[in-house]
Amino acid sequence: MSIDSTIKVKPSGFLQAVRAAMAGTESVQERLDNFVDAIVGSMQVDLASIYLELPGGEMELSATRGLKKSAVHKTLMERNEGLVGYVAHTARPLNLANASAHPLFSHRPETGEEKYNSFLGVPILRGGRTLGVLVVQNEKARTLDEEEVEDFLTVAMVLAEIIIDDERAGGSAAAIKGIALNPVKPETIRGKAFSDGLVAGMAHLHVPPVAPADLLSDDTAAEELRLEEAVAGLRISVDAMVRGEAADLSRASREIYETYRMFAYDQKWVQRLREAVHSGLTSEAAVERVRNEHRARLMKAHDPYLRARLHDLEDLANRLLRVLSGETLGPGNKQVADNTVIFARDLGPAELLDYDYDKIAGIVLEEGAMSSHTTIICHAIGVPLIGRAEGILDHIENGDPVLLDGETGEVHIRPIESHLARFNLRMNIRGEMAKAYDANRGRPAVTRDGRHISMHLNAGLVMDLPQLDRSGAEGIGLFRTEFQFMITRHMPRLDEQTALYKKALETVGKRPVTFRTLDLGGDKILPYMDPVLEENPAIGWRAIRIALDRPGLLRYQLRALIAAAAGNHLRVMFPMVTTVDEFIECRALFSKEMKRATQLGQNLPHRVEVGVMMETPSLAWSVRAICDHVDFVSVGANDLMQFFFAADRDNVRVADRYDPLHPASLSILRFIADGCHGENVPVSICGEIAGRPLEAICLVALGFDTLSMPVIGIGPVKSALLALDAGKLRTLIEPLIHTDSQVSTIRGHVREFCMREGIPV
Ligand code: PEP
Ligand code: MG
Repeated sequence: MSIDSTIKVKPSGFLQAVRAAMAGTESVQERLDNFVDAIVGSMQVDLASIYLELPGGEMELSATRGLKKSAVHKTLMERNEGLVGYVAHTARPLNLANASAHPLFSHRPETGEEKYNSFLGVPILRGGRTLGVLVVQNEKARTLDEEEVEDFLTVAMVLAEIIIDDERAGGSAAAIKGIALNPVKPETIRGKAFSDGLVAGMAHLHVPPVAPADLLSDDTAAEELRLEEAVAGLRISVDAMVRGEAADLSRASREIYETYRMFAYDQKWVQRLREAVHSGLTSEAAVERVRNEHRARLMKAHDPYLRARLHDLEDLANRLLRVLSGETLGPGNKQVADNTVIFARDLGPAELLDYDYDKIAGIVLEEGAMSSHTTIICHAIGVPLIGRAEGILDHIENGDPVLLDGETGEVHIRPIESHLARFNLRMNIRGEMAKAYDANRGRPAVTRDGRHISMHLNAGLVMDLPQLDRSGAEGIGLFRTEFQFMITRHMPRLDEQTALYKKALETVGKRPVTFRTLDLGGDKILPYMDPVLEENPAIGWRAIRIALDRPGLLRYQLRALIAAAAGNHLRVMFPMVTTVDEFIECRALFSKEMKRATQLGQNLPHRVEVGVMMETPSLAWSVRAICDHVDFVSVGANDLMQFFFAADRDNVRVADRYDPLHPASLSILRFIADGCHGENVPVSICGEIAGRPLEAICLVALGFDTLSMPVIGIGPVKSALLALDAGKLRTLIEPLIHTDSQVSTIRGHVREFCMREGIPV
């Protein structure tokens, strides 16, 4: 019998040995040793070795059957070195008849590898990470066939579970021996605090993992049938989505659903799943394995289009897992226990809103962005959100107790008692502070030197509106109208838009609402519109640039706003205006719509104010010129700072690199405030800095009398303002803000000032 024909019959002893290695209670090292023994004992190979990646990126020989045992934990391959490094780097199998003939072959005499010829290296992948490489070799020079390669990919998947067990238990590839296997160790992982708050809760994995116990199947034929049925079910649901019958939870649009359908019918994808099942995996494990392979490759892609496809594939894999679990796909509230903390790779706004958010204590994402819509919804509903918590899904189990620190961005997993006690103390202090803020709710924000500061809320969804009464804010200083467009599954019709704006105006009663027209583009993509792929979306075709090129949508929106504000006070402003001309064009469109409403005999707003968002440096330098055309100015500090410092607000590597309390940024803000005051045009400032006490008092000192902020800023900022002598702070900071200043922030000076003056910041 030739080797090739014997291997087609899966050696049952092998799967049993693998199962034993999975279930064993020995140390991780012993399990790895058993594993390589099982491979050599039951597969047609003479050598099996496991290389694991160390924290520094090198590959360490961690277990072997066939090489010299003395080389274990001694032989190290540099990242990218040799065949092992190559497999790790490409995340693809490498199958060679003669290893030493390969140009990347790197000889390691201490291992005694000379007698082996054939080489198969497969990556050990999990969650898109390469944990290591499994190598099998034969003395005879022959390449393994496809089915054998499949088998070893399956083996590598099982191995990944063992290694991850070790990592969770606090071990590392470098010190793998004798480690307990249960993930009980407390861990702290640091991400970015996107939404403030301290909470204790229970972890809930948005996409539950496949339990390691269910990785392998005894009955491949039955498993193949399950897979085929699930794929058929998936296709039916995706077809229904494309036809628009099922409005599903995904942020995907009809066009994106089309992409899903393309993947769901992609023979290659389904074939990879079949092969994985055929190699002994359960259908769930097969989905997981193919997903890992895609992730590992696509995560290396720089092309944004390819990376976006990764999300599509992830979503599709999740859907398939849900079909396999028997869950019927479709919208509906996801039931979770009280105090749930959701853990996910990423979460779209619609996915978040599918949860009963009264039960959600917090959210932790491996990805996410500070200004994403999920973040803004979290601000609105007062839920702490930690994003960019890299790799956290590999360290967390469903039901793990967790503490979320939305001040520092830390996530404490399985915390110890003393930690919990400290955290409780901080939560109590915050509770006391919240009471103090509450006591100030009805008080006007008047500084000690008598300046009345008007405090407003940033909002955008109907669910934000009740916060106005709860916070005691004077109105809505920024109503981001695009949010409603983003969380619905179709473009809101004129009557739907009118109803929403009317509801906003009715809810706030006599208090003003400043509607900002659609600020689309950048990361704000409508699910039902073709995304435009751009190199630099933040400075691309967005907001008013789209609106002026394609005025239909804007005119429609203005029409809805005018109708909604019948007999009321209407305040509208335009985002991302860069030149005065652009504003003049916007205003002309608004006038046209007013004229149209008049001609139709509509009931008009009794008062209309049209303003501009000042969020580009070019408009800031034209402050006096723009003042001739506007009824008010609102400084969009988020964008203004990103353009001023040329630092993408969504890019975690640069977003916090520059301090808005830099003398240069403060001088441009002062320039704007002075310019508007000089022209008698009301000026306010919205954006995140208005909601941070230290920054807010500086803005007031520079001359801003109106601040608009997320709801969580109102209490702390008001407390700071009540204790502030704004004139005194202006005297302190004026001499620090000059163009020959060498410092990169005046934060330290302001902080000292607050300590001296007893200002709570
Ligand atoms: C801003 O840019 O400061 C702003 C408030 O608008 P957005 O965050 O929606 O861009
Ligand atoms: Mg903006």
